[in-house]
Amino acid sequence: MVCSLQLGLEAGQRDGRTMTKYSGFKVFAQALRNNRGWGRAWRDPDPQPAYDVIIIGGGGHGLATAYYLAKEHGIKRVAVLEKGWLGGGNLGRNTTIVRSNYMENGNTQFYEHSLKLWENLSQDLNYNVMFSQRGYLGLLHSYGQLDAGRQRVHAMKLNGIEASFLTREQVQEKAPYLDMSMNARYPILGGVLQQRAGTARHDAVAWGFARAADRQGVDIIQQCEVLGFIWKGLKIVGVETTRGDIRAPKVTSAVAGNSGVLAEKAGFQLPIESHLLQAFVTEPIKPLVNCVIASFGMLYYISQSDKGGLVLGGSLDGYNSYAQRGNLPKVEHILSIGKALMPCLSRLRILRHWGGIMDMTMDGSPIICKTPVDGFYMSAGWCYGGFKATPGAGWCLAHTIAKDEPHPLSAGYTIDRFRRGATINESGTGPVPGHH
Ligand SMILES: Cc1cc2nc3c(=O)[nH]c(=O)nc-3n(C[C@H](O)[C@H](O)[C@H](O)COP(=O)(O)OP(=O)(O)OC[C@H]3O[C@@H](n4cnc5c(N)ncnc54)[C@H](O)[C@@H]3O)c2cc1C
Repeated sequence: MVCSLQLGLEAGQRDGRTMTKYSGFKVFAQALRNNRGWGRAWRDPDPQPAYDVIIIGGGGHGLATAYYLAKEHGIKRVAVLEKGWLGGGNLGRNTTIVRSNYMENGNTQFYEHSLKLWENLSQDLNYNVMFSQRGYLGLLHSYGQLDAGRQRVHAMKLNGIEASFLTREQVQEKAPYLDMSMNARYPILGGVLQQRAGTARHDAVAWGFARAADRQGVDIIQQCEVLGFIWKGLKIVGVETTRGDIRAPKVTSAVAGNSGVLAEKAGFQLPIESHLLQAFVTEPIKPLVNCVIASFGMLYYISQSDKGGLVLGGSLDGYNSYAQRGNLPKVEHILSIGKALMPCLSRLRILRHWGGIMDMTMDGSPIICKTPVDGFYMSAGWCYGGFKATPGAGWCLAHTIAKDEPHPLSAGYTIDRFRRGATINESGTGPVPGHH
């Protein structure tokens, strides 16, 4: 009887708490009880001495990998080790843009798969990640960019990915607050629209994946920093942490801007630089910006949050850093681009700005693979775009760990592509991190 009861419980219920399945009915019932009956969303376990897989980093990529390892591959003795708190890294600091408007082989189908996972993510996780397919409009400012924009639309369509080219007049109709005069600092000649793209609520993504992974039996351990590795000969067989040694035959790094630090501890160098990227939010206003707007040439993007604030960002601060806060010159640079494109911005006050540590590869594409060190796997090099890749990257990395072979969608994302000259350079700008 006890045994069957135990088997009947999900691993996430081992501490005696009932893991609630969220539904409209539950919200209604809880409202009648003054919301006093909600249980914890996930457990707070102490680390076990050993697991089948250890994932370092409790950002989106670490949590998604743990979730898909348990759900898709049945590997449930998994620990996610986070040195701070869930979503304290780039996951909670990004501008939440989700899209799949890529044109290079190796990128197109990977990001499209990720977008398809986003489309069903709230249902899959039983958690509303507030994915809003409000569209992503890339502005084109020169005749060269018009050609490149048309080429992108064709490449996307050939890959079965929805996209459309907008004329100058169509852009004006969609976003009448943009400065459309031909003597503007950045004249707007057309645009590329992906209507299925949009935004999601980043905190909800952290909490949704954490709760769903916990339900599958994954241990999510916060305040647990990985300091070094445990070796057996040339193989990594565990990690040394601030909460003691933990062993596992497979150890994975998903630490974004800190990837280089862990790789160094594992004895190899990554083709990655850590840079600072800032973002900004204005005071809330009534609905105005009804899609994501980006300037391909200027590396600038803006959208409106559900609370009404305009969320905007631009390019890297331009120097290597592990500090999670920005500098004033970039504030001026980005806001001046914003004001030139959208003059009414000048009437708004900036409420907050913040920074995250970006893991910039030299071709702008990520790394999802087994590393040169036996027993050590990695998701890294996400540059400006790792949030949109969260479900797709977790899906592919989980496959790589479980099957010990690359997933076909991420097969090109190896570390040795730089040695082989097989880079996937979407922007075509070469090894200049700020341009990816
Ligand atoms: C300002 C800004 C705007 C962005 N905008 C977008 C956007 O609009 N769209 C988009 O797709 N992407 C965007 N990105 C990029 C995106 O946020 C990242 O690529 C992505 O979040 C990285 O993956 P992650 O969530 O796993 O990283 P993180 O959330 O950074 O997770 C890594 C975790 O590892 C932990 N960690 C590090 N070292 C250790 C250790 N030794 N031991 C234990 N834990 C450790 C960290 O504390 C951190 O929580 C943006 C990034 C920034 C900073």
